[in-house]
Amino acid sequence: MTELTFLGTGGGRFTTISQLRQTGGLYLRDRGLRANVDPGPGALVHMHRYGLDPTLTDAVLVTHAHPDHWTDAAILLEGITRGGLDRKGTLVAPRSVLRGTHHEGHPVGPVITKYHQQMMANCHEVAAGHKVTLEGMYEAHATKQIHSDPDTVGFRIQLTHGQFSYIPDGVYFDGLADLHQGSRLVVCQMTRGGSERIPHHMCTDDVERLADQIRPRLLLLTHFGYKTLKEGDPGVWAQRITERTGVPTVAARDGLRVTMGSDFQMEFLDKGQAPPVLA
Ligand SMILES: [Zn+2]
Repeated sequence: MTELTFLGTGGGRFTTISQLRQTGGLYLRDRGLRANVDPGPGALVHMHRYGLDPTLTDAVLVTHAHPDHWTDAAILLEGITRGGLDRKGTLVAPRSVLRGTHHEGHPVGPVITKYHQQMMANCHEVAAGHKVTLEGMYEAHATKQIHSDPDTVGFRIQLTHGQFSYIPDGVYFDGLADLHQGSRLVVCQMTRGGSERIPHHMCTDDVERLADQIRPRLLLLTHFGYKTLKEGDPGVWAQRITERTGVPTVAARDGLRVTMGSDFQMEFLDKGQAPPVLA
């Protein structure tokens, strides 16, 4: 069984600053793997709220060096290693996160200290096309993304009940869908609804094209920007993608837990919210 828990579904600086939505990223649990993916501000706090023990995490995956993707990483690494006492766990991140790089003359990263990197049993610096093995049994492929952090990667991981893709911040490009072919479950970061594209990010039109090409069994939208959330429920954009492509699409909400077995189950960990209905 694979279980995804949304510790946050907000993205971009203004959603993060205002906490219009939580920004703790994703928690992934499979048979032999527990991983935090893009643990932004609030990951630690919301793990505790949802009864997830940070000392049991095996791996932290960070896609790029923007704060809504990494700010809680250091404390989660301390959780894995019991404050640095046990040398265990895995950190997977690109160069910008671990060593720093530049974009258009401006520095990007590094954002995780050397102290925290050296605390881990494994610290993998990945670039697009690299493959790492997690917990001795899960192959995680770093996939190409085009974003304002030039080292940004996505991930494609073979899990117990199918292939999982995580497509973070970045623009649509020819070939992006090819990197995620065969994924049964896709989480895609859609900052803007509709056709209103902002630089370096995807809007609904872009995600719709991806959905049509990848055709997963379930597509989950997340990482909603401030304007998109202020304008209404991002669920309308999920519905549009479902209607136009036939790919079942859900706009994730904070505290959504999705279980992937032979079929998909969804529940909300925050009481009082009805789970989304799959088309
Ligand atoms: Zn970003």
